[in-house]
Amino acid sequence: MRTLSNLLAVPLLLVLLLGCCHASGSTNETAARQWFEQFNSDLAVQRNLAVEAGWNYAVNITDENSRKRVEAELKLTEFLKLKRTEMQQFAWRNFTDKNLTRLFSKSDDIGTSVANATMQELYSSVKTRLATFYNTAKVKDPRSGEMVPLEPNIVAAMADPDVSQLVKRDFWVGWRDESGKKMKNDYEEFVRLGNAMIQEAGYANLAEYWQSWYEPTSDFEQTMEKLWTEFKPYYSLLHAYVRSKLRPHFGSEIFPLTNHLPAHILGNMWAQSWANVDHLTMPYPESWTVDITKEMLRKGWNSTTMFRVSEEFFASLGLGNMTDKFWAKTVMDRLPNVEMNCHASAWDFYTNEGDFRVKQCTSVTLPYLATTHHEMGHIQYFMQYEKQPVPFRDGANPGFHEAVGDTIELAVMTPEHLVKIGLLNSTIDSNEYYVNYMFLMALKKLAFIPFGYLIDKWRWSVFKGEVTPQQYNSAWWKLRCDLQGISSPVPRSEDDFDPGAKYHVPGNTPYIRYFVSHFLQFQFYEALCNKSGHAGPLYKCDFYQSKEAGDALKKILSAGSSKHWEDTLEELTGTREVSAAPLIRYFGPLFDFLTEANKNSSEPLTWSSECPGDDWYTSTTAPPSTTAPPPQTTTSGSSGRLAGATWLQLSMAALLGALLSTLLTR
Ligand SMILES: [Zn+2]
Repeated sequence: MRTLSNLLAVPLLLVLLLGCCHASGSTNETAARQWFEQFNSDLAVQRNLAVEAGWNYAVNITDENSRKRVEAELKLTEFLKLKRTEMQQFAWRNFTDKNLTRLFSKSDDIGTSVANATMQELYSSVKTRLATFYNTAKVKDPRSGEMVPLEPNIVAAMADPDVSQLVKRDFWVGWRDESGKKMKNDYEEFVRLGNAMIQEAGYANLAEYWQSWYEPTSDFEQTMEKLWTEFKPYYSLLHAYVRSKLRPHFGSEIFPLTNHLPAHILGNMWAQSWANVDHLTMPYPESWTVDITKEMLRKGWNSTTMFRVSEEFFASLGLGNMTDKFWAKTVMDRLPNVEMNCHASAWDFYTNEGDFRVKQCTSVTLPYLATTHHEMGHIQYFMQYEKQPVPFRDGANPGFHEAVGDTIELAVMTPEHLVKIGLLNSTIDSNEYYVNYMFLMALKKLAFIPFGYLIDKWRWSVFKGEVTPQQYNSAWWKLRCDLQGISSPVPRSEDDFDPGAKYHVPGNTPYIRYFVSHFLQFQFYEALCNKSGHAGPLYKCDFYQSKEAGDALKKILSAGSSKHWEDTLEELTGTREVSAAPLIRYFGPLFDFLTEANKNSSEPLTWSSECPGDDWYTSTTAPPSTTAPPPQTTTSGSSGRLAGATWLQLSMAALLGALLSTLLTR
């Protein structure tokens, strides 16, 4: 049997050998530029082939397409490794042309691809097993007894105000039993392998590697913690207010005395958005009779209308229309007669011919209008940095890429703009109306922030070994209770693995980008509003048709990742830091309302940093779950569990993760 140290021996030797040559490599920058030029055009071709294969698989899931997809991915990996070795002929860290050094540095970063083929295969295999657990999980519907998948059935039940909290609780528990709980040993192996592989690239662990994408100029984790600390008092206002509204509705017996919100009643499987409890919590329900989804349907909108509306907004800023290829190749609706992955995503094909596509199974609803803008933001970014060399065809940092479409969404969703595009007859100029509007935005955007933080906060400590496999679930719940103020509806133990019940954990997709983007998008928004000459409250700003805003946006997008993101951010906003200040300014009047409302209801603004104790669960009068205990699954760290099926033929999520991780929705 091969041991880990056997597997590591050869690559380590290689690293040592290569390491020795850095100092003595050539500093001939003319030769280096020539080498790079060829590499850059070859890289575009290799990436294009891999993305094509990935796309073909995503829109038509067959064994054949899966095989081709993996082949293309392996070819790309081989190419990257070969070129990385070739690069070592240059002492590129010592170049006087810092732009050239940056190009080489980006090209040198090939992540876990540095590891040997055996480790690659083990790693792919474990990632595929994790993704397969997630993608194939089905749960017994407590109402019908039928086995149902997460999407659309369980997601819809969790969102439905007419489904009882007991049914929601059963789904909540059932989903975790059938997904996360089965993954624990595989996740442990994934962490072990991933860390071993990334150490070959010179990083201490995966946490350090993931954080390196932000080129931190100070301790990254401290920076994130500072942002959270700054925002937390405002989150507490929303938390207390929502608690005061939901308690009388669901009954105080399911609310722990620790002031946590029960995780299963917030309209979402992970309590990451509270938008589906708007009808129970709206500050002035009588002042809000708007139903945009209905209006879209009444006006005969379809998926194309939604994409055209988004295109038109960007075009009004002077950013240019979508390309012909985009319109010819984008998949906006679920394709008939094939199995396809409907997770909304945006794709850059690395040609210089405008081949950018979105893949989305659109339904004509307000949330999908937001998703469409989000994905179109990625496409605009691709378009604007198309002329950059391939290593710079990326977001200034991963949060930037996620923030672009959301920034546009902030303008599009203003009642002022909805009037312009014919989805509202008129706005009502009252404080109550706009408090409602901001509240709806808060349920979606502010409620998300601690969740956006805690996923990677948990993973960093796991990758660093600060949290051991024996503490996986308790460490997860410590963060859920402390940061998010959410508690589990039933007791949890280390037999459970609740992080695995969220796509991005088994899918190996970094998540802190969404936390970062939720602050960045308000910074971008405020800056673009200022450029457009907007006067008045920030939440009313619609920078539609402002060429000044468009020019400023174009400038930061077209830079791609050619500069440190702090430089790019400073250019647009005048600050070098991710900051909560614009977000706090935007929601100012809502925070005033929440402060007053909480005072009137005497609802406490804090919750315990510890989860409710076992004594609360045993003393609560809530009836026990009706879900039958799941059958004991055998857990093993080997690939034996999937005997008979090759990892090549299995689910796609793990395979898509590595290449396309910046492009998924949250
Ligand atoms: Zn995205």
